[in-house]
Amino acid sequence: MMKKSIKDISVSGKRVIVRCDFNVPLNEEGEITDDIRITSALPTIKYLIEQNAAVILMSHLGRPKGKADPKFSLRPVADRLSSLLDQEIIFKSADQVVNDEIKEISANLQPKQIMLLENVRFRKEETENDPKFSKELADLADIFVNDAFGTAHRSHSSTTGIAEFIPAVSGFLIEKEIEFLGNAIENPERPLLAIMGGAKVGDKIPVIENLLDKVDSLIIGGGMSYTFLKAQGYEVGLSIVDEEKIEMAKSLMDKAIKKGVTLLLPVDILAAKEFSNDAEASVFDIKDFPKDWMGLDIGDKTVELFKNEIMKARTIIWNGPVGVFEMPKFSKGTRSIANALAESDAVTIIGGGDSAAAVRQFGLSEKMTHISTGGGASLEYLEGKTLPGVAVLQDR
Ligand code: AMP
Repeated sequence: MMKKSIKDISVSGKRVIVRCDFNVPLNEEGEITDDIRITSALPTIKYLIEQNAAVILMSHLGRPKGKADPKFSLRPVADRLSSLLDQEIIFKSADQVVNDEIKEISANLQPKQIMLLENVRFRKEETENDPKFSKELADLADIFVNDAFGTAHRSHSSTTGIAEFIPAVSGFLIEKEIEFLGNAIENPERPLLAIMGGAKVGDKIPVIENLLDKVDSLIIGGGMSYTFLKAQGYEVGLSIVDEEKIEMAKSLMDKAIKKGVTLLLPVDILAAKEFSNDAEASVFDIKDFPKDWMGLDIGDKTVELFKNEIMKARTIIWNGPVGVFEMPKFSKGTRSIANALAESDAVTIIGGGDSAAAVRQFGLSEKMTHISTGGGASLEYLEGKTLPGVAVLQDR
């Protein structure tokens, strides 16, 4: 279902409240260490300003647990926004997020002015999706714009509740996410390949289940592959295995066969005696995996096998690293996959979280078609779930 975006409505002279994802990483001194989430929000904000809207921004930051906590104030974000936009950002650190002063400022906010509200999670009503807080937010503005894909899978006052009271449309970020993720899943150029990695099998099983109905081939690598390899009867030594998911892994592999989906698992593994970058490491064929080693990356034969499949695909969705890429010694597999995607002419979609971090770490972001800004949200989308923060937006 196509959703309306800010381009589909008139915002001129209106007060527009935008839910952004300004949940940026801060260091001990409270300084922003990576502002990609702020820079990503700029196109929507700039467009609204060009269109003569008065703009009110809101976001959460960290987990202040429903109480005002200066550690999680959005003030550093206000400062960074101000320097990026070269414009004053009105910011009052209100413990209640909305108070009389904020109401008064918003009532008098002029076209092209920008106000940033304090961290919406200073109010416990936010995550409870309490209509009282939703209405307080809605009363500040005429139109609601959701542009926080990272929290689109949550029903909170600032992501869904507010849409009960004022018209809701998407910003450019969410519009782009739905377009790329949606097309990749529902209307891809084939063959469609999904590459799943990472450690938490439990989180990804529902995704694999859903993807098996859509993809032509599926690669499983990383920590989660050992549960599948063990389900096939291989020794995997001390590698991480989710014992409770072994039966499920078996039935997913059966489903792949029934659906005619090519499913590839690692054939060789870079293993170590302990979980450390300094550990002795060696490559083993999966048929000869020793009992007292743990798999931490894929081996070269597997890289070749996976690359071959990548080169055949026209659309590729990648979620999760194929090794412990944070440790240089075990990052080669993930780097090779990232390089193969970068070289491919296919549409390449990177699910958020660790694979996005890996692609950035390798300096390959520009080479990908789309990097999702939301880890949890993109996984739920790939699972086939409706995201509440998208569902509340007006249909086109
Ligand atoms: P997830 O949150 O499920 O996407 O898992 C991401 C994490 O999986 C990353 O921090 C990787 O270091 C980790 N990971 C990838 N491969 C392995 C492996 N073979 N053993 C243990 N952890 C892994």
